[in-house]
Amino acid sequence: MIFPSIRSFLAFTNTVVVILIMSILGLGIQSLVGNRLHSNLDQDLKQQASTISSYIVQNMDADLSASINRLVIGLNVANSGGNVTYVQLYTSSGTPIPLSGTPSPIPVASSKQLHAVNGTPVHSNVTSSKGIELRVLTEKVMYHDQTLAYVQVARDLQPINEILAQLRQTLITGIILAGAIAGAFSYALAWQALKPFSEIVSDAEMIGVDDLGRRLPANYGVEEVGKLASSFNSLLERLQQAFNLQRRFVADASHELRTPLTSIRGNIDVMLLDPDLPPYLRDSLQNLSGEAGRLSRLVTNLLLLARAESGQYAALQKPVDLHGLVLEAIMQIRATAPAVHIGMRHEDQVTVAGDSDLLRQVLLNLLDNAVKYTPRGGEVRVGVYKEDSWAKVEIQDTGIGMSPEDMEQIFDRFFRSERTRQEAIGSGLGLSIVYWVITAHHGRITVDSKPGQGSLFTVWLPLVPNERTAFLTIA
Ligand code: ADP
Repeated sequence: MIFPSIRSFLAFTNTVVVILIMSILGLGIQSLVGNRLHSNLDQDLKQQASTISSYIVQNMDADLSASINRLVIGLNVANSGGNVTYVQLYTSSGTPIPLSGTPSPIPVASSKQLHAVNGTPVHSNVTSSKGIELRVLTEKVMYHDQTLAYVQVARDLQPINEILAQLRQTLITGIILAGAIAGAFSYALAWQALKPFSEIVSDAEMIGVDDLGRRLPANYGVEEVGKLASSFNSLLERLQQAFNLQRRFVADASHELRTPLTSIRGNIDVMLLDPDLPPYLRDSLQNLSGEAGRLSRLVTNLLLLARAESGQYAALQKPVDLHGLVLEAIMQIRATAPAVHIGMRHEDQVTVAGDSDLLRQVLLNLLDNAVKYTPRGGEVRVGVYKEDSWAKVEIQDTGIGMSPEDMEQIFDRFFRSERTRQEAIGSGLGLSIVYWVITAHHGRITVDSKPGQGSLFTVWLPLVPNERTAFLTIA
């Protein structure tokens, strides 16, 4: 559809319909008035022609030309509104009879044209040599069976044309005005009628995936919109149930998988303790142990996210020494990635209110990514800062970096960039967990990166006011 909105569509169609109806009506009025004026004129001409004919019959022997002149002057004086009637006489053979006074503007008719006139007078429109449009009536003057003369009477069509032009002008202005009024009125009416729909749209847009418990108001003042709201609400209800079911399933499945996975890993590790293991078996078992470890981490992350999303996770809010937590996390990651140098860039003592296990997980995930996506010999620099009422942790690496398109998606679940998908081990859940934990702690995270030039992750968390214990509850 070429219209940007229903409002403009309704306004346009109503305008077109009104203009169409008004135009048909206008054409009707115009032709009615035109016909009426022309038939009145023809009537006048007919009357005057018959007066002249009777006069000619009565004055058959006199000087016809002089008598007719007198008659014409009399006729002109009798005409109201200054409408001059022009007269032209012809002999029975078709020769024009000169009349005194102003020469007649009626173009001289040929004898062939005159002879074509029989019992009934002939009306025609002609233009004089001076460009005057004339309505002409030609009549044959008879006495018994004898043709005495031909008479032509004519009137200027200008006054009628002027009236018709004025009428046309008025009708066109009226049509345009009516169209504009109809358009504006329909637009306003449609706007008013569709307002509740706009309201319902903006209300519905406010409901996000994490907000499925919210419902639309039942009353929008319009019955149809009320029905729409209630169907939308029942759809939300079903959606919420489906989401809850899916979260519960993920949480349950992850929970059930955790125990057997731990046992598998434990058994493999025990088997690896055997010094007599053939090398090919040792390789396979080590491989298995690595894969089981990866699976176990994935399941733990899934469980954490599922619980977080279902709102089951009641994280503790205790004072956490963030600086100490950063040092611990660095030690832990250093042990797993000796090929990348990890160092501190700045160290402020900061305490935040939160759950130390979850915050440790955040730091581990970020540091793990930093070393994972930094080639051998690269560097990771960490800074802990106190800025106003915020604690800030910066983790900068000299690794592969990211494209702007990737940066927009890295906090989405299971997102892994094309490149990292092939090279490094991961699940795509680490940053989703980071994002959730930080948001739950009323903090924020930003990322700055360029392909090939490393990445900088910055985490902001609110400081404990006066470093006192805060008993907040994570929303
Ligand atoms: P993964 O398990 O794949 O590391 P994450 O959620 O932790 O999952 O990260 C998502 C994606 O973000 C990664 O696959 C990677 O493409 C990108 N990424 C995260 N951290 C970095 C980093 N420090 N340098 C480059 N890319 C990164």
